[in-house]
Amino acid sequence: MSTIKKGYTELHAILSANQDMTVKKLMAQLLPIMQQEVRDEAHRYVDGRLEIFCYYHKQWEFADQVEYGKKANTKTGLNTMCKVGTNNWTTQYRIYKDSSSKILAKVSAGELSYEDIPAEQAKYAEERNKIVPLEVTHWNEAHADPRQQAES
Ligand SMILES: [Zn+2]
Repeated sequence: MSTIKKGYTELHAILSANQDMTVKKLMAQLLPIMQQEVRDEAHRYVDGRLEIFCYYHKQWEFADQVEYGKKANTKTGLNTMCKVGTNNWTTQYRIYKDSSSKILAKVSAGELSYEDIPAEQAKYAEERNKIVPLEVTHWNEAHADPRQQAES
């Protein structure tokens, strides 16, 4: 069997488990998966200002208030995460990516037992998924808004 492309695994699982069902019956299950891509790249205009749903912070951020790097092949021409979010995401992902070898090293050094591997893995996963909130100081002062004033 060939490898399923990243992003299609969930779709593949549902289709494989329901091969005799009609598309009509499966549509409700399939739609949320297919809509994910759109949600990942969400943006809107508020009073002419571009606002992006930051993939890292999981919140709406004005592109003129929070710094976004350029990115090709997105609808806005900007990244789907703000710069601060991108840095956090990259760091967290790197730590997570190294976790398997770190855990193995601990086991072979006798610092961790086999039974504790799942808990250790869960700890790393949690670390990867955590969201470090955007500090008000990351906001562009030229575009301060009431939220910013209230917190400072
Ligand atoms: Zn962000």
